[in-house]
Amino acid sequence: DETIVLSELAKRMGIKANEMIVKLMGMGVMATVNQTIDYDTAVLVAGEFGYEVEKASFEEEVILKKTTEDDPEKLAARPPVVTIMGHVDHGKTSLLDVIRKTRVTEGEAGGITQHIGAYHVQTDKGVIAFLDTPGHEAFSAMRSRGAKVTDIVVLVVAADDGVMPQTVEAINHSKASGVPIIVAVNKMDKPDADPDRVQRELSEHGLVPEAWGGDAIFVMVSAKQNTGIDELLEMILLQAEILELKANPDKLASGHVVEAKLDSGRGPVATVLVQEGTLRAGDSVVCGMHYGKIRVLQDDLGRTVESAGPSMPVEIVGLSGVPMAGDELVALADEKDARQVSQHRIQKQRSKELAKTNRLSLEGLFEKM
Ligand code: GDP
Ligand code: MG
Repeated sequence: DETIVLSELAKRMGIKANEMIVKLMGMGVMATVNQTIDYDTAVLVAGEFGYEVEKASFEEEVILKKTTEDDPEKLAARPPVVTIMGHVDHGKTSLLDVIRKTRVTEGEAGGITQHIGAYHVQTDKGVIAFLDTPGHEAFSAMRSRGAKVTDIVVLVVAADDGVMPQTVEAINHSKASGVPIIVAVNKMDKPDADPDRVQRELSEHGLVPEAWGGDAIFVMVSAKQNTGIDELLEMILLQAEILELKANPDKLASGHVVEAKLDSGRGPVATVLVQEGTLRAGDSVVCGMHYGKIRVLQDDLGRTVESAGPSMPVEIVGLSGVPMAGDELVALADEKDARQVSQHRIQKQRSKELAKTNRLSLEGLFEKM
């Protein structure tokens, strides 16, 4: 369903909008300067002026396909990407903190501050990437935009509080996106901790522990006392093995934006989870409506890195604008292609918005009549 704004089409063809309106009128189409016209009409009217119209969306698909084709021989195991979810105050942040500290050597511990809302830990048995999503809303927003960035959900439930509304919400989100859940029963150090109650309540929501004949994985932890954390990480890696997570690191990168902002000094800055290929400084990328050449890549501790492979969260600088969480990022061999795809998307968005305003003003008109 391609459309273009009349004035934009006229501009691209180098003719006056009025001439086009007159020409369209001659063809029996009444249109104003800001009105969108459909692809077939555009082809007809452009033909009247001796132009041929190329379908830009078709081009976009061709351009993007060049870099997304995969060679099965090149697939390699990649680390799992984990999102921690659960009811407020059940210990999500505390758990993320204690996991993050496990990888930091004693000497560093004081000076480490997390730089971005995503990080990865190196355990004896493998690497795990964690996304520090601001909440369930971000998760469902990403899901609704078709961005699948999580392989495994760790569901945190406080042992002294049990299943609460946001616990159920998290279960529903995970189920809807087909992501396996590992339950972390937290606050086991508390005197009124009641893990049996948690298991009973979760069983009612389809999460039956293995010990009770089900297939849900439960790990008892205390973020406060740092107990059960190693076992939790082990379970994550075990689940990852079952999922056989693979990606081809040996091609141009693609991934999704986890968060983005406008930095007063550096301009648009985005945290991107690389999902396929390897992202490198100097790469040309399309990211949502924007494009650019990657100037700087930084890891979660703010250190400049040369590249980032599959499942690596990385902060990038060099985009033409601030993308949205959930936007896809694709690296392209040709800078011109990146700009073209971006421009096409902006154009499409503008057409959509103008179509909306036109409809609104028409409706307003009818109301007055
Ligand atoms: P979030 O809202 O899920 O991110 O929860 P927080 O990590 O902010 O924790 C909420 C409160 O629970 C804080 O006061 C934590 O100190 C406390 N808390 C978190 N984990 C534990 C735990 O394992 N044991 C105890 N006793 N308190 C905890
Ligand atoms: Mg928190």
